Amino acid sequence: MNAHSSDRFRDARTWLLARAAELRDRLQRVRSDLRREREPLPRDSADAAITLENDEVLEALERTAARELDLIHAAQERMEEGVFGLCIRCAGDIDVRRLRTVPYAPFCRDCGPGG
Ligand SMILES: [Zn+2]
Repeated sequence: MNAHSSDRFRDARTWLLARAAELRDRLQRVRSDLRREREPLPRDSADAAITLENDEVLEALERTAARELDLIHAAQERMEEGVFGLCIRCAGDIDVRRLRTVPYAPFCRDCGPGG
């Protein structure tokens, strides 16, 4: 932790680190499942169809986790730069309650998607 980083967002920093580790872990598992490192594709075609359907679910999980991980990395960079908690569009303060719910939120409520 560097000297100029404020302690104000310590909880958010801790949360981001824990969440990033969790997501990296999930991505690793999902990707190894997709590469069939654990189970080969079943020979039976019905079973194979189910497995391929599962793959779609896994791919959706992968996309979601990867996207969240990107948002977390961006938030960690903003922390390094000392601009964490500021909206990346209008530079206004992001509501503390919003940050508590979604610590990697890049926008304030006025600029955010759907808000
Ligand atoms: Zn804004």
